[in-house]
Amino acid sequence: MSDSLIRGSSSPPHSPRGSVNLTRRQLLAGAGAAALLLEQRGLHAQATASAAVVFSHTTVVNADAVQHDVALAVEGDKIVAIGPTDAILETYPQAEVYDGRGKALLPGLINCHAHLAATLARGFNEDFGFPNSYRLAIRPRSLLSEEESTLMAVMGALESIRGGVTTVVEYTGGIGSSAAALADTGLRWVFAESVRDIENGAGPLSAESLARSEAPRFSARLRDEGLQSAHDLFESWHGARQGRISVFPTTALAEDSSPELLHAVRDFAEKNDLGYTIHLAQSTWEVEYMLRHHGLRPSEYLAKHDFLGPRLFAAHCRYVDDSEIALLGRSGTIISHQAHMAANRGVIPPISALRAAGCPIAQGTDNNTNDMLETMRIALVTERIQRDDVTPGSQPQPEDMLADAVQGGARAVRQEALLGSLEVGKKADLIVLDTQRAHLVPAGRILSAWINNGQPSDIESVLVDGQFIMRDRKILTVDEPSLIAEADKVGRRIWSQVEAASPVTVPRLPRS
Ligand SMILES: [Zn+2]
Repeated sequence: MSDSLIRGSSSPPHSPRGSVNLTRRQLLAGAGAAALLLEQRGLHAQATASAAVVFSHTTVVNADAVQHDVALAVEGDKIVAIGPTDAILETYPQAEVYDGRGKALLPGLINCHAHLAATLARGFNEDFGFPNSYRLAIRPRSLLSEEESTLMAVMGALESIRGGVTTVVEYTGGIGSSAAALADTGLRWVFAESVRDIENGAGPLSAESLARSEAPRFSARLRDEGLQSAHDLFESWHGARQGRISVFPTTALAEDSSPELLHAVRDFAEKNDLGYTIHLAQSTWEVEYMLRHHGLRPSEYLAKHDFLGPRLFAAHCRYVDDSEIALLGRSGTIISHQAHMAANRGVIPPISALRAAGCPIAQGTDNNTNDMLETMRIALVTERIQRDDVTPGSQPQPEDMLADAVQGGARAVRQEALLGSLEVGKKADLIVLDTQRAHLVPAGRILSAWINNGQPSDIESVLVDGQFIMRDRKILTVDEPSLIAEADKVGRRIWSQVEAASPVTVPRLPRS
């Protein structure tokens, strides 16, 4: 088994056709049987001049309107027509017809905040607060090779596709090592290369690390190296794969960022017309640390150093006070809301207040899960719980959640003109829902039925840039079964080592 890294080109070094023992490297390079089949059909290159596809007699669902019994035509990478089926089939007589009866088409979901390699800690990282308070003798991630980390990230990408996600913001450092494998999945990506320049800090604060904390010391060397990595990634990947790939510069955490780093990231983004992101107000310990060492709350620190603004999508904002909410709203900062992960950590961020202050809301999954349907559902119910409405449970609506996930997401990734709705002229990034399922029939409002009761497995096909990347529930871009088998093997090896060193015991509730 090759342990060599995957860098640069996605092309397999040689054709493994006929071979059943693909190496992990070949699998990650998209050299599986499915990918070969695609190449044979000439579909591997994205957005080539392909024949039109017409989804006939179907339902087209947007956040602001639903059209019944229409056809939607895709040609190349764009939606070229929506209207009566007969008229559209007359206009596109050569088109391949996808029978849209009993289906609903939705805009592809946009996940604005993912750390895909964290799939390794599924079933562990959800249940011990933030930051994870469980003390393992060995950190699972420390046992992953770079290639295995890519494999874990690809698991997250596969889950994303199956869950109707078409754009993912992958937020981590060193994305270059997995960029080709991620690009090969066919998804639309924003690679948010994370930079930090603190010397005497180590990630999100806990009660213990706050107690031990000293005034931050920042390193020009760390800053320069991190910014150089972001710049290199930008040079090699921004605009690649017919524009499917974007690269944003970003900082990791408010408490790990010097004023110089904040300015450099913002300047980089402005110069190249990019967005940028940060983790903000994730814990009370973060707030306490910023007050102690900077004399400012986290959002105030960012405001002081000109980091807030409409290019920023700030993740979490769980512990922002009224003055910070006003500051974020005035600056037009977008909030990336990870409702699922926040709820796991026992928190409901003040999303209604942030909305009211003027912040656009986008959504993301964060660690472990990449299921945006579940994220929309938890965002819906937690915001309802938090609001003080006369009729509890009437706001927000599922339409608001889809608007956050697709329109808010498109705004965060700065592709509003191309993504976020099914409209003529926009990119054909869309998902096909099978509505003929026991939990969806009958459904007066299919969007409500799906967000309240649906399952990712209702999604039967996914298009990105006009290309099917999943069709009839089969992923077409990579060899999914082999990759899952490989990831399972790696995960079992790592967790058996971790549990041998320190078995996980959980703090159960007392039972009478
Ligand atoms: Zn995060």
